[in-house]
Amino acid sequence: MDHLLTDTQRAWQLKAREFAETEIRPLSLARDQIAAPAETIDWEIIKKGSRLGIRTAAVPTEYGGHGIDFTTQALMIAEMAKADSAIAKSFSQSWKWSHLIVDNGNDEQKKRFFDAFVNDDTFVLGGGITEPNAGSDNRLPPADDPKSGLQLRATLDGDTWMLNGSKCYIANANIGKLIFAFTRTDPGMPVQEGTTIFAVPRGTPGLKVGKVFNKHGWRFYQNAELFFENVRVPDSNRLGALNGAHKKHDGKNSKFGDLEYAANALGICDAAIEMATAHGRTHRQAGKRLNEHQLFQLKLSEMHMQTEALRSFVMRIAAESDCTANISRKHNMLLMNFSTDSMQRVCYLNLAIHRSAAKGEISARAEKLVRDAIIWTHIAGDSVQRMKAVKALL
Ligand SMILES: Cc1cc2nc3c(=O)[nH]c(=O)nc-3n(C[C@H](O)[C@H](O)[C@H](O)COP(=O)(O)OP(=O)(O)OC[C@H]3O[C@@H](n4cnc5c(N)ncnc54)[C@H](O)[C@@H]3O)c2cc1C
Repeated sequence: MDHLLTDTQRAWQLKAREFAETEIRPLSLARDQIAAPAETIDWEIIKKGSRLGIRTAAVPTEYGGHGIDFTTQALMIAEMAKADSAIAKSFSQSWKWSHLIVDNGNDEQKKRFFDAFVNDDTFVLGGGITEPNAGSDNRLPPADDPKSGLQLRATLDGDTWMLNGSKCYIANANIGKLIFAFTRTDPGMPVQEGTTIFAVPRGTPGLKVGKVFNKHGWRFYQNAELFFENVRVPDSNRLGALNGAHKKHDGKNSKFGDLEYAANALGICDAAIEMATAHGRTHRQAGKRLNEHQLFQLKLSEMHMQTEALRSFVMRIAAESDCTANISRKHNMLLMNFSTDSMQRVCYLNLAIHRSAAKGEISARAEKLVRDAIIWTHIAGDSVQRMKAVKALL
């Protein structure tokens, strides 16, 4: 597909590839194996990527970023994920919330938030929707309980908003310098109509970080609890309309979500194929090279088939996102689901190839790819995403 790329897209892809090969890959396994979840983060790699423009790549040029398009974002995520899926996500998570600022911020907010973000190599963004009792219900609320979903309450007290409640599983919650908190401003309305977003800077009195979650995969990527105890936020930090958090379905943030995961899954698939191919060429089993065995060949061909189908789907949705203002999200959701299935199958086949060949010893990297791939089952409540896609197709 390289022949379809512009010179700019290709240049960013190659920059991400070089960064991934020379900087990310060498430290991937070592960071993954650190036992304490809050210590897996490596600020040097964030700073290096930032100096290359990767952290701020999705910020519009008028606000000091690079304004790369969705096709470039997908290409770069896949390149970085091939070296380490969790480190790739640590960069693209800030792209996701940059898109939210673009979609919902007014001119003053865009200038204020992007100025701080662009000029600090260690500035990462986070967004809190999920709560201990509200995960999937925020996206597919039960019809018989219109008040289900997130409960973090924001009430107007004088001229400031007061936030009380908690969030969990929030990416970058423990390290982010600005967190977008999804709050309930009208508890009498269903979650999709009574929710408002506030930008809460780190260090705001009453905002506390709880435990950092110990995950089986994506170990570099930080996920933590957040507690809000009388956290005061000025109305100038309200992003978008009152009760309007879930009303914007055609913005950049919404186009990016599923594409981001699928592009990352593509990088994982490429890594698995690279590993399996190298192993097949060098390892001998039953008197001949592994890749001379028909069973190995069938596995590798299936890995290629799944990966190339995923690549086509990712690039199609990326291109549509770039050239269509209001895309139908059903294909994005199907892409997310397809990427989960194909990547988990590809990683399983890679693991099987290594396990059978190495007589019980599992390659640490093959095993890491499987652990990272399993995260997809949880991140977006995969079955809920599937039900939402099907509802749009019925
Ligand atoms: C690595 C990681 C990063 C994350 N980052 C963030 C973040 O930055 N910000 C944030 O806000 N959240 C984040 N999350 C949370 C994530 O969005 C939630 O985990 C997700 O929405 C699912 O919610 P839950 O875990 O509460 O599971 P539940 O909603 O309890 O779902 C459990 C199971 O029940 C199924 N299920 C749920 N509802 C239905 C239904 N109606 N019908 C049939 N089946 C159903 C689900 O599909 C799933 O299999 C992250 C999670 C992970 C794992």
